[in-house]
Amino acid sequence: MGREVIVAGTAGFCFGVRRAVQTCYEEADRENGPVYTFGPIIHNEEVVRDLEQKGITVLNSMEEMAAVNGGTVIIRSHGVGRAVYEAARRQGLRIVDATCPFVKKIHRIVEKAGQEGKTVLIIGDPQHPEVKGIMGWAAGPVSAVQTEEEARAFAEEIKEDVCIVSQTTFNHDKFHKLVEIIKGLMYHNYDIVNTICNATEERQTEARAIARRADAMIVIGGKHSSNTRKLYEICREECAETFYIQSLADLELRLLPSMGCVGITAGASTPNNLIEEVSKQCQK
Ligand code: SF4
Repeated sequence: MGREVIVAGTAGFCFGVRRAVQTCYEEADRENGPVYTFGPIIHNEEVVRDLEQKGITVLNSMEEMAAVNGGTVIIRSHGVGRAVYEAARRQGLRIVDATCPFVKKIHRIVEKAGQEGKTVLIIGDPQHPEVKGIMGWAAGPVSAVQTEEEARAFAEEIKEDVCIVSQTTFNHDKFHKLVEIIKGLMYHNYDIVNTICNATEERQTEARAIARRADAMIVIGGKHSSNTRKLYEICREECAETFYIQSLADLELRLLPSMGCVGITAGASTPNNLIEEVSKQCQK
């Protein structure tokens, strides 16, 4: 008897990423002039490379977009701020919006909050493109916090009513902890909209459950993928033998127990074929 391998049903592409990647392949087939994505469509180098071979170029900044001469720009599932749409329109580009509807909903919430004179607080990483995009829809003051110290500092300084939302991939428990800190220190009115996406929560819950019973756990995803890193942290809490791999080449079978149970999960940007290949290797 060899290893038992359990692959999480929630591993890999979520609805929003699947939709954005599919949009890219459809646009590549249209033969309708040059096609660009504003930023890499997902945090997966292999998929981005494959799309490049099909003629889709990544624009990494507003400056790069300003230099192109017509064509289509695809907005990725993370979404972007209002300024990017305005710049693309000025440039005469055709915009194909693959922003995940769940992220789009956050844009609408913060836009409205700003119009109502509220400060917007995003619980999330201010450097994450999704958070930057959300910030770009706030009509008034906007901040992002991701640590207890930052949450405390925000609550002690705030002078207006606040609308609190979260980055869709933020850790659920941490979100509640930071919100409790802010609520305890603040005297102003606040709306709290938990905008953590279910796909993330379900993936995290399942990963924890599998890691708890596994002898070793493999988390697959790009090194820049924050949701994969969070999955890794969760699994590591439950299973000391947790490995973070980006590709099949990173998989060191000799490190896995020859008997017992190996669990596999993957971040939202990890294609199914890679998950299947890793699973097959583990069963050898
Ligand atoms: S994690 Fe959720 S919000 Fe983010 S792209 Fe996927 S489905 Fe959309």
